[in-house]
Amino acid sequence: DIRIKNLNKSFGNYHAVRNLNIELQDGHLLALLGPSGCGKSTTLQLLAGFETVTSGEIWTGDTLLSHADGVIPPEKRGISLVFQNYAVWPHMTVAENIAFGLKLRKLSRADVETGTRRALDTVRLGHLADRYPSELSGGQQQRVALARALAVQPKILLLDEPLSNLDAALREEMRFEIRRVHDELGITTVYVTHDQSEALVTADRIAVMKMGELQQFASPEEVFDTPANIFVASFIGNNN
Ligand code: ATP
Ligand code: MG
Repeated sequence: DIRIKNLNKSFGNYHAVRNLNIELQDGHLLALLGPSGCGKSTTLQLLAGFETVTSGEIWTGDTLLSHADGVIPPEKRGISLVFQNYAVWPHMTVAENIAFGLKLRKLSRADVETGTRRALDTVRLGHLADRYPSELSGGQQQRVALARALAVQPKILLLDEPLSNLDAALREEMRFEIRRVHDELGITTVYVTHDQSEALVTADRIAVMKMGELQQFASPEEVFDTPANIFVASFIGNNN
């Protein structure tokens, strides 16, 4: 699970995340929604441990991941993050991109191969294992990034949807992919998306943010039927 308690993050005197409280159950998929600049990516960076928190706490199980006086480093959190501007390494093949994280974890050669193959199969890219990223479409590259995140068998998966890089058809394909992978593996997932109607259909929980503040955290039905305020109502109703 993930438990965020009274979380605040400031950059200088800019207050990017304000008093955030969220409790997400094991295996649930949370869709994080809100306008550009509302603090979605910052929240993911805090969950991943790439940013320190200004105040508040982040917990998983009985482990305190982040608080003002310290953090458990990203690589020890069992969390994988796929960035908004997904980075696949151009000088490595698809398989090498995925194997890299497993090698870092000092797995045996056989385990690296098995793990890489399994991750490739999960995102259905087995046939492209020996290609370089420049020989792939944007959607395929994003699936490589997803496979790389999954290969290390994270307990928690954080996805920041890269809108700018994909056309509508590829975005649709990725969303389907993410849903399928989530159904298959049941990993607790936080998914930033700009597609409100898709989030309502896919997610177990919805969080709507505005200027660093949580407006509503509830099931999709609740958000749809009883939006917490005018902002949520109009944001959910206004699909891009
Ligand atoms: P988008 O949908 O455009 O990706 P977002 O909800 O992910 O937006 P964030 O990237 O979390 O937004 O940014 C929230 C606010 O914090 C923005 O106003 C941004 O300018 C600010 N911010 C983010 N990172 C930093 C940083 N390292 N230094 C200073 N300000 C930052
Ligand atoms: Mg962002």
